[in-house]
Amino acid sequence: MATIPGKMTAAQKVADLGLQFPEDIQWNLDTMFPKLKGMGIKREIKQKHAMIQKLHAQLADTLYPDEEIQYVGKGVQVKFSEQYFLGIWAHVINQTVFVLTNVRLLMFHTNTKGKPHHSIWMVYYSQIVKFKKSPFFGSMVMKLKDKNKFVFSGFKGPDRKRMPKILAEMNEQYSALDFDPEVTQSREKLCTVCKQVVPKDVYKCNNCGQAYWKPSEIALRSLIFPSWGDWIMGHRGLAIAEVFGYVMTWIVIIALVMSPEMEITIAAGFGAVILIMAHLFDAILTRAIAQKGLTPRQPLVRYEKVNVAGEA
Ligand SMILES: [Zn+2]
Repeated sequence: MATIPGKMTAAQKVADLGLQFPEDIQWNLDTMFPKLKGMGIKREIKQKHAMIQKLHAQLADTLYPDEEIQYVGKGVQVKFSEQYFLGIWAHVINQTVFVLTNVRLLMFHTNTKGKPHHSIWMVYYSQIVKFKKSPFFGSMVMKLKDKNKFVFSGFKGPDRKRMPKILAEMNEQYSALDFDPEVTQSREKLCTVCKQVVPKDVYKCNNCGQAYWKPSEIALRSLIFPSWGDWIMGHRGLAIAEVFGYVMTWIVIIALVMSPEMEITIAAGFGAVILIMAHLFDAILTRAIAQKGLTPRQPLVRYEKVNVAGEA
């Protein structure tokens, strides 16, 4: 890109701030930071830089050779049922970093600090029917070709403005090239180990052999012991909170049975109903959460990435 004399480039600005973006990845700093002056710009660039540092290894491993990063932003997937039943925990388990490249949209599941978990998704731009601001609470709505709809909150103001723009431009480039790759679902799941697509309803990677838990298997464990499924999925904080709630449930039931004011058979019956509900409820919720991403079975497959660029 030709630079206008006297006008600062994003690369200069980044250098001025003493920041370095990892050289093993290609960055389009101009699309990542289109605004270089004004309130909060320094902080914005520093925050994005920190976000990338945490994601770096995972990202470098996922990108194709020559794939270039156009934009990075972090949001939280919002699902009414999870918000309602899990409260603050829904926020904790749904952190997602969006990485817009010149080829596709990559989504990384992270913890609240931006450290990646195991789930990675990929969406080709041709699969995105709509991505725009919702009139409610500044959230973003993403509608996909296969009718799936995702709502994200937590994106910063500039992200909410720039991401739809970049997506629209990418979509145009796709159309111009007549590029519409085949998919098994609009939002494909990527293998945790080799980063290749693991097709819809498949729980073993064809490429590297890594095996994954089926959502029904995870749900069954939560049915047997509430919180077990969340533990498997790596939602440790949530699992501990659930164990705590479960122990409280038992204390209430024991108190009921011991109470002299209630007939023991009625108390026991009542307790049994509460318990069954607790187990069932946890299993249903766990299954819904498990369906979203891939949960690797241990041990992880050892996989050496082949240098595709070198073959050409
Ligand atoms: Zn794999």
